Amino acid sequence: MSKFLSTQFSSLNAYTPGEQLSDKKYIKLNTNESPYSPPDAVIKAITDEAKKLNLYPNPDGTQLIEKLAQNYNVNPENIIIGNGSDELLAFSFLAFFQQGVLFPDITYGFYPVYAELYNITYNKIPLQSDFTINIQEYLNKNQNIVLANPNAPTGIALKLSQIEEITKSNPNHIILIDEAYVDFGAKSAVNLTKQYENLLVIHTYSKSRSLAGARLGYAIASPPIIEDLNKMKYSFNPYNVNTLTQTMGAIAIDEESYYTEKRNEIISTREYTKNKLQEQGFIHTDSKANFLFAKHPSISGFDLYSKLKENGILIRHWNTPRISDHIRITIGTPEQMDKFIKVIQNILHQ
Ligand SMILES: *Cc1c(COP(=O)(O)O)cnc(C)c1O
Repeated sequence: MSKFLSTQFSSLNAYTPGEQLSDKKYIKLNTNESPYSPPDAVIKAITDEAKKLNLYPNPDGTQLIEKLAQNYNVNPENIIIGNGSDELLAFSFLAFFQQGVLFPDITYGFYPVYAELYNITYNKIPLQSDFTINIQEYLNKNQNIVLANPNAPTGIALKLSQIEEITKSNPNHIILIDEAYVDFGAKSAVNLTKQYENLLVIHTYSKSRSLAGARLGYAIASPPIIEDLNKMKYSFNPYNVNTLTQTMGAIAIDEESYYTEKRNEIISTREYTKNKLQEQGFIHTDSKANFLFAKHPSISGFDLYSKLKENGILIRHWNTPRISDHIRITIGTPEQMDKFIKVIQNILHQ
């Protein structure tokens, strides 16, 4: 820390991304990326676009937003794009949560970081012992609420009717639903944004769209909420989404058949891996995401993490209360998961 850092940030705990090691070749199952490349059409589309890189990108993201609007059957005024969904989460915390916000004690690690960055009071509502959300604890709170659906890192999904109940019972506060993993088995709340002016849904191209490196997310909500988010964006970085990414995002919308195929592959690999882990004595949640959240009764989460790493496999482990015995495993290709299972068997029989 330099002596110049503003004192308000001296105790800020920044977000820790999953490791990106290059000392050897790892099977990377630690940051919930897709193991599959983007479709060819998306890659080809940017060769010509690159010639325009002398110019600033369209700050409004007009073409991409129009295609997204068509795709979701909403109006362009209902959408804003961001440099990853993380940026839109940051804009949302900044714009709406000055009076405080609620989220589960176990959820996406960035929520408390944004809260601390913007000096926002937050309350964590403990998940139940099976890591499910008791929605009664979110009704009539008269408070802003953030929920990842499916939740991270548990993968457990809420029903659409439960999201609606929470939204309806807190009509004067923002209900932000982070749907980073929705394509892997949950129901999207996007349609409910037409009915509820306080509902804000955020999506990303990073997980099911194979574009984590392009940095693209979007938010869908009532026009006044989008207007407020644009105010944040135009006060921070009007050119937040670069030209190539805007183009890739628009082309990707036409590649639904490719994405459906890959998504189904990931879902069936997830169920296959679940069964294999069960056979080895693991306990796991009912994950509807592209990862599994599991623990083994006879080996600690940290030991599993360390031994997998020694064997060239990266997974995620948190040394935090309630979940330190768990590991989170991103679903890779069937070949990667077979290797993972083999290494797990060796570790358990050592
Ligand atoms: C991965 C993830 C994000 C961030 O996605 P980006 O679009 O890559 O910034 C947001 N929320 C949750 C719950 C995630 O897991």
